[in-house]
Amino acid sequence: MAFAVNKVSFKKEKKVYKLGKGSNAKLKGVDKRMVEIVKEAIKISKQDFSVICGLRTKKEQEELVARAASQIMKSKHLDGLAVDLMAYLPGNGDRWELQLYFAIADAMKEASKTTGHPIRWGAAWNVTLTDWDSSAEEAMNNYIDLRRSQKRRPFIDAPHFELLK
Ligand SMILES: [Zn+2]
Repeated sequence: MAFAVNKVSFKKEKKVYKLGKGSNAKLKGVDKRMVEIVKEAIKISKQDFSVICGLRTKKEQEELVARAASQIMKSKHLDGLAVDLMAYLPGNGDRWELQLYFAIADAMKEASKTTGHPIRWGAAWNVTLTDWDSSAEEAMNNYIDLRRSQKRRPFIDAPHFELLK
């Protein structure tokens, strides 16, 4: 017996995301230039995200280092020069799949170009993301290759973005 299957077609419309209340609260105390970049990025991003960390206190940083969640004591979060952005999927909540962060990093790259504030990405520490000619994914692969060639382990912190100065 034939079973009628309704064809489902997804609209290809470009979705425009917005920062939520929590994200805006996390941007408090963050350098104005970074706030500008994040606000521009959310408008053009193909992947929804939220701000999970902005300005961090010395005590919070000490705790993270103690838990080995952060490798450096001299984090740019302490000066409000960095943000951590987390990928969000509707119905699925926060996600850690690296793939989603490439889209966020691509948006952050474009936004940093538009606003004129150079940034670095936590998955490609060796380059200025703003000046990187191809995709964020390639920037990360380039960084991993470099570290491997130096016989050093790559340190991938995909949600992390920081101002260069
Ligand atoms: Zn961070």
